[in-house]
Amino acid sequence: MSRLTIRPEIKDGESLSSYLMRACRANMVLYLDLLRHVQPIRSMDVFYRRSIRIDIMPQQKHDMKRLAMLIGQTEKSLFEMTYDSLRLKFNHYGLYFDESFLTLMPVLLESNKRKFCTHCLEENLGFQMLWQVRDIDVCFKHNVKLRTSCPICNHDQSYIHNNLGAYRCYHCENYLFSENQQFHEANEEYMHQRYDEWKYILDSKKRLFPGLVDGLDLQKTICITLIYILQLQLEESPTQYRYNLVSRLLRHDFLHSILRFINDQTSPQKVTFPQLMKILNKAKIRMIDFVEMKVPASYVNSIKSLKVQESVIRKCLSPWCITFEKSDALKEIPYTHFSSFKNQKFSNTSICVNCGIRYGLNMNTKQWLEIDTNIDLINNVVLMLWFDKSEKEIRISLDITYRKLYQALGYALRYNLLPDNKREIYMKYSQSDLDIIECFKELYSEATTITYKAQKWYGWHGIEFFYHFYNPVVQQYRWIEYTQKNKFINKQKVLKVQPHIEKTLNDILYLEEELTTKEIAASLDIEFINFQKYGFSKKVQEIKRQMQKQATESELFDKVQEYVKTMDQVRLSVFIITSGKAQMILRNPCLLWRIILPSSLL
Ligand SMILES: [Zn+2]
Ligand SMILES: [Zn+2]
Ligand SMILES: [Zn+2]
Repeated sequence: MSRLTIRPEIKDGESLSSYLMRACRANMVLYLDLLRHVQPIRSMDVFYRRSIRIDIMPQQKHDMKRLAMLIGQTEKSLFEMTYDSLRLKFNHYGLYFDESFLTLMPVLLESNKRKFCTHCLEENLGFQMLWQVRDIDVCFKHNVKLRTSCPICNHDQSYIHNNLGAYRCYHCENYLFSENQQFHEANEEYMHQRYDEWKYILDSKKRLFPGLVDGLDLQKTICITLIYILQLQLEESPTQYRYNLVSRLLRHDFLHSILRFINDQTSPQKVTFPQLMKILNKAKIRMIDFVEMKVPASYVNSIKSLKVQESVIRKCLSPWCITFEKSDALKEIPYTHFSSFKNQKFSNTSICVNCGIRYGLNMNTKQWLEIDTNIDLINNVVLMLWFDKSEKEIRISLDITYRKLYQALGYALRYNLLPDNKREIYMKYSQSDLDIIECFKELYSEATTITYKAQKWYGWHGIEFFYHFYNPVVQQYRWIEYTQKNKFINKQKVLKVQPHIEKTLNDILYLEEELTTKEIAASLDIEFINFQKYGFSKKVQEIKRQMQKQATESELFDKVQEYVKTMDQVRLSVFIITSGKAQMILRNPCLLWRIILPSSLL
């Protein structure tokens, strides 16, 4: 093949493949033929002639010197139409060498279909290199949506074909601009930002990553700068790492593994370049701001000091658990990295999936502890059962609510901790034909009065409820619930005496009027402190007064009836209770009381 005689002008921002296809068209040469002539014999595979590689890393499969000579351009100008500048930048930082660069790019670029703007093609502006970027879908110049299919026959256009140089469809051969795209109501500002971002990334003079943080390599510098810049979006010049801020912008498990990675622990997690771009883009942070960010030393130290905490010996502390003293079955409870439970702050909160007990690092004592006091509670209850104490005796001597007692009993039943004779008694609570998981799904979607609802819907006794609750599968499900965050959001919302809660309160009190406010709070699954704070206690008193009043009234009514009966017997049938009068008495027995009752009856 000899030099091409016609040399079309290179359009601004045009990709190499676009230019080559146009040049071939102008010289009546087939693009695939041209490429065949510049491929070394050892890699004559047709695949490469049809692929986007020519725009990503052309020198890998093509003789660039020969190609430049054939089309009468300089080698440099050919490379400028490709993503090779990005490869060189990566190489400078020691990242993504050759093969890994080739596997990285398809994550960022659409590499099968050709994207185009119909207006640009009509104006003969060539196929732009940046159109293939996945997060760019609008033409910068015309603000119309880029398309991949022929407007006439709707066939998607492959990346390379012989008609593209003439802007024609490979299938129906019509011009790809035969019908122009409607103007697109795009977020113009956002799209311009994406273009600017990519121009910055491809600019060989611009840095791609921030300068190294003292004592850290590039990967760790990237990680720590990313965490810092995210926190900076929510807090002015932070000096300390704060989990609850960063976790709003970064998935919690991702964040944890990055932290472990920074602190040299066995975590393979690094932030890949596409991940970095995606996170920055989502948080609306420009690449240049990221690159120029300097993380203050105090912030770096606060992340390094996490190492001490992270290496805490996490283990299960329940003596009856099959993974006692081991961490195998501990699962971290998300969104509770630093959480308060009963005024104690815990970090690294975890739940053992084998025994359902929650643990955490107590921030005051720096000890790995159980979060609740269930282990002691269960131990004590079981011990007293061995001494044949009744439920009532246990409740009184341990000074616990019914709910707590049932919780311990249900737990002990589930984990086979009961003495044999008691086991027989409680056995009945472990038999249910219901699909337990489905029941709990239903209960959790209610989210407020779980134990109470379980009794109402499934007829579960408190012990039965906790027996099922501590089913490992239910615990797993609960864990998933936590991860979906729903429960926490719901809980915030219900702290108001809403009509349905008032009704539930009523129902509870009518069933069991001896209940203390504390117990009611527990059965509604509301912290006692909130129970008082949000007016539940007041409501309970109100309902109790109402009930008292009704009780007194019905008691009086009984006495009235009694009196009337006595009167009847002595044949003083002055008051015959007709239905009308009975109703009157029902409505206002006090009145009647005052009028007719002799003082002897009081
Ligand atoms: Zn355009
Ligand atoms: Zn077509
Ligand atoms: Zn355990």
